[in-house]
Amino acid sequence: MFETLDALGGRVKTHADALAVDIPPSMGNPATGPVRVAGAEPGDTLGVKLLDIKLGDFGYGRVKGGGVIFDEMRPPVANLTPIRDGMVLFNDRIRFRAHPMVGVVGVAPAGEPVHTFYPGPHGGNLDINEYAVGATIYLPVAAPGALLAIGDVHASMGDGELNAGGLDIDAEVTVEVSVHKGLGWRWPVIETPDAWCTCACAPTLAEAIRQATSDMTTLLAQRLAMSREEAFILIGAAGHARIGQAAALPMDVTAYLRISKEIMPTAF
Ligand code: CA
Repeated sequence: MFETLDALGGRVKTHADALAVDIPPSMGNPATGPVRVAGAEPGDTLGVKLLDIKLGDFGYGRVKGGGVIFDEMRPPVANLTPIRDGMVLFNDRIRFRAHPMVGVVGVAPAGEPVHTFYPGPHGGNLDINEYAVGATIYLPVAAPGALLAIGDVHASMGDGELNAGGLDIDAEVTVEVSVHKGLGWRWPVIETPDAWCTCACAPTLAEAIRQATSDMTTLLAQRLAMSREEAFILIGAAGHARIGQAAALPMDVTAYLRISKEIMPTAF
């Protein structure tokens, strides 16, 4: 079980904090870890299944420091948001069911360290809504022991995380890890109860979608014994390109290609 801090490192306790706290990206988005996984070696794939996400008592959303229409806003504005019995109490009139998801799940990258602010082949800050209880994220292991870290939970996050934050919150995240030999996946793959997703990040959404599509095409061709061309036609018919994070931040955007288990029951 990982005890995770919110994206501002637990600095927000009051509404005034939510308005005032300002930290550089190099201090933000902390992840708890690293945890060494016995038996995980470079070239393996680490499976991280989300068994439970226990949310803190309150989260926060902000207009501060970024987002796709930040230039239209009059910052700072903050909303301290209680969570009760799995419901988000957004204000006196609006409440909705929480959808706990984990923004950052990563292993030690190959080569130079990568800050937990950034996404990449090692996972990191992918901010993909599919990463909720019941899902497994598969990450390429680059260092002995994998060195797993987890953080940046959201009580709820809209696809795209358009205000550059979603509903950030602290949490307790319970996972089960598994080590897989010989899969050869170079980018994160997510298994949900009913789908498989290839994940990607790039400077533009178009590039990220292209990469996720190319990786899913290869996966479908291998698993379903078809040509890449047939697999691409199948994606055109039944693959869903979706946005993870596209919040106009100084970092790559993330996207993924989702295919139902009705079509591909298993990816390995
Ligand atoms: Ca994030």
